[in-house]
Amino acid sequence: MEKRVRTRVAPSPTGDPHVGTAYIALFNIGFSASHGGDFILRIEDTDRTRYTEGSEQMIFDSLKWLGLDYSEGPDVGGDYGPYRQSERFDIYGKYAKELVEKGGAYYCFCDHERLENLRERQKAMGKAPGYDGHCRSLSKEEIDAKIAAGVPYVIRLKMPYEGETIIHDRLRGDIVFENSKIDDQVLLKADGYPTYHLANIVDDHLMGITHVIRAEEWIPSTPKHIQLYKAFGWEAPEFIHMPLLRNDDRTKISKRKNPVSLIWYKEEGYLKEGLINFLGLMGYSYGDNQEIFSLEDFKKNFNIDKVSLGGPVFDLVKLGWVNNQQMKLKNLDELTRLTIPFFVKEGYLKDENVSEKEFEALKKIVEIEREGAKTLKELAQNSKFFFADEFTLPELREDMDKKERKSVERLLGSLEDEIGKKSVKTFINKLENWSKDEFSSDEAKELLHSLLDEIEGGPGKVYMPLRAVLTGQTKGADLYNILYVIGKERALKRIKNTISKYNIEL
Ligand code: GLU
Repeated sequence: MEKRVRTRVAPSPTGDPHVGTAYIALFNIGFSASHGGDFILRIEDTDRTRYTEGSEQMIFDSLKWLGLDYSEGPDVGGDYGPYRQSERFDIYGKYAKELVEKGGAYYCFCDHERLENLRERQKAMGKAPGYDGHCRSLSKEEIDAKIAAGVPYVIRLKMPYEGETIIHDRLRGDIVFENSKIDDQVLLKADGYPTYHLANIVDDHLMGITHVIRAEEWIPSTPKHIQLYKAFGWEAPEFIHMPLLRNDDRTKISKRKNPVSLIWYKEEGYLKEGLINFLGLMGYSYGDNQEIFSLEDFKKNFNIDKVSLGGPVFDLVKLGWVNNQQMKLKNLDELTRLTIPFFVKEGYLKDENVSEKEFEALKKIVEIEREGAKTLKELAQNSKFFFADEFTLPELREDMDKKERKSVERLLGSLEDEIGKKSVKTFINKLENWSKDEFSSDEAKELLHSLLDEIEGGPGKVYMPLRAVLTGQTKGADLYNILYVIGKERALKRIKNTISKYNIEL
């Protein structure tokens, strides 16, 4: 019988939750889903010097936000727990000692000073640094005596001096390492803490992990892991190394050049659907040139062999495009609900409690502005002129570029222009004669078109002054959409406010 497929993601809680964690989780989920298997979360918190308070909770929250669900983990339990390495310390010590018994590892009593000297000598001779195997040949009596005398020790892996270790990587083919070049890795430190290598493989084994899908930066560790499995007499999982996400300049993704915290993406107003979709495109071809998909579709269609290795560039412009597509696909009520906190942040709403009527009005804004916005934050920012009925017209400034200057000149000029004045006058008239407060977007379109029929001059001359008195902005949503959102009374109010503020004579 085939073993049940089990994959995992094993982040260390050392700061803000990293976009790479979500990326690797996504592909592990895809793989386990495509095999009807399990996906689990393990927290690797053995390195107490890098531990950051609150980081673990942020990992849970971010994975949940993104819908990257795990069926087992520290906060959800499971049959293979505990899923937090700091709660498994006894296990590692026990296995390290067992490995010594089996002859696959040994006690090393070399102190800091000896190791420093060794490193200096190796450096002077132009050799690669590494442990020289000094304690590998201690006799049982010597070892017992040192332990009895309380000499501090570490436990090291006994790497074979000869031969090769081969990773059969599904995506990369065979990667061959010469054993003689690999150091005798410390497995258990002097303070009794395990290193990453020991804890990681003991847990993968005990948790029944069948496929280790992780970033390529772990490739150099993998031969040690393979040797560890061998020494324990355990079957190793299959190793699959995903390409690293990269900055524009192709270096490994880093916070100096790219935002890497999942929290940043959430606060910036990327949708979980947008971020997931984007990550699913990194080094992966979904098929049929299709670029927009949901997590569900991704899982259904997943095929690990479609991962390509050329380092995918984490391109925020592309992410913005994908996110915009997902915003357009999203249920409008839901999208509106998600945008409300951003309206509050911009100061357009007092708080998140909105009446049904306000919600309907916000929905219209969101419907219009989602077309051109890359994030919820941008959507809210672009919606400014829907909220206040008083505004100032832009002024010409020295630091404006040519294009901006020209559009401001056109906007202001349109209110001096005879056709412009006529347009505003006729518009007021039409609004006053409009029998209800609301416009459907078709009605608003029709009303605006009728202006074009009555006043000669073309859309530029006729509509620009209306934009000036209705929004005070040179660009933004279409006029009919603005009318549709603000309605007759607010439109009249805005026009009157602007006219009196700037003493415009019609
Ligand atoms: N704790 C490691 C990390 O932070 C896990 C690497 C692995 O998947 O083996 O990514």
